Amino acid sequence: MEYAFFEGKFVPIEEAKINIKTNSFHYGTAIFEGIRAYWNEEHQQLYILFAREHYQRLLRNCKAMFMELPYSVEDLVNITVELLRKNQIKEDVYIRPIVYFKDLKLTPKLIDYTPEIAIYTYNFGRYLDTSKGIRVKVSSWRRNDDNSIPSRWKVAGAYVNSALAKTEALLAGYDEAIMLNQHGFVAEGSGENIFLIREGKAITPSYSEHILEGITRSAVKKLLKNELVVEIEERPVARSELYVADEIFLTGTAAEITPVVEVDNRKIGGGDVGAITKELQDIYFRAVRGMIERYFGWLTPVYEK
Ligand code: PMP
Repeated sequence: MEYAFFEGKFVPIEEAKINIKTNSFHYGTAIFEGIRAYWNEEHQQLYILFAREHYQRLLRNCKAMFMELPYSVEDLVNITVELLRKNQIKEDVYIRPIVYFKDLKLTPKLIDYTPEIAIYTYNFGRYLDTSKGIRVKVSSWRRNDDNSIPSRWKVAGAYVNSALAKTEALLAGYDEAIMLNQHGFVAEGSGENIFLIREGKAITPSYSEHILEGITRSAVKKLLKNELVVEIEERPVARSELYVADEIFLTGTAAEITPVVEVDNRKIGGGDVGAITKELQDIYFRAVRGMIERYFGWLTPVYEK
């Protein structure tokens, strides 16, 4: 039996249904998260990656959207552990918490409504090709500006912007879109942050470039600094700089570390996965599966031993 956490309790997934009159369904005023858990066959253990960090971001975003939940970060981590146990997950899995206004009322506003949280598990598998790398297109759609719909928050309505960019890229025969912000500088992918490697240095747009405050981005910064001893520059990145980069990769919970081998039909570096990207992937994929002791702090084990 597959369960979801819905309206304060665990229910069979078929019963986790919302009314068509639900306020947030109409206005996109929901805040969500995407979390991965990785199965380690040898340990017979499921590890949730950055559980606390995801729920901290969720609650921060909820606060900004006037969505006061009766749960702490600890409560939400515990609920997630219990959900994974109930669903007896013994493989890699994706977890989707979503907070929405459950009121059956119209009017797009954020006050005087009641927020609710639902959490369910999803078998995502690979999101993008992390081994061979992907071809991307700079989108004709610009990233949401912070003064219209903040990209900093994982707010459901903002993903219309992602969907437009991703669809344009797919229809044009590419795997993913890179969006520029309203000022014309590189922002991020439809569901990923972006890094460039130039002359041994890593470059990534800073938080002020109208991007999501990515959790994988933060982890990758630490790995670049501590493991690969690569210097990081956070600054505006022009579109033309993408074409002359030695390596490019995207980061995200779903996308993990995805190499970009082509941008707008220009090969990046030699047109295959770069050396720094490869080394970074090797450490990341082992760390998330509980294979590197010094990164155990990233993980929440699900099953009691
Ligand atoms: N940017 C956008 C627009 C996203 O949807 C995501 C996925 N959550 C990311 C970046 C990467 O964020 P994270 O590493 O926290 O998953």
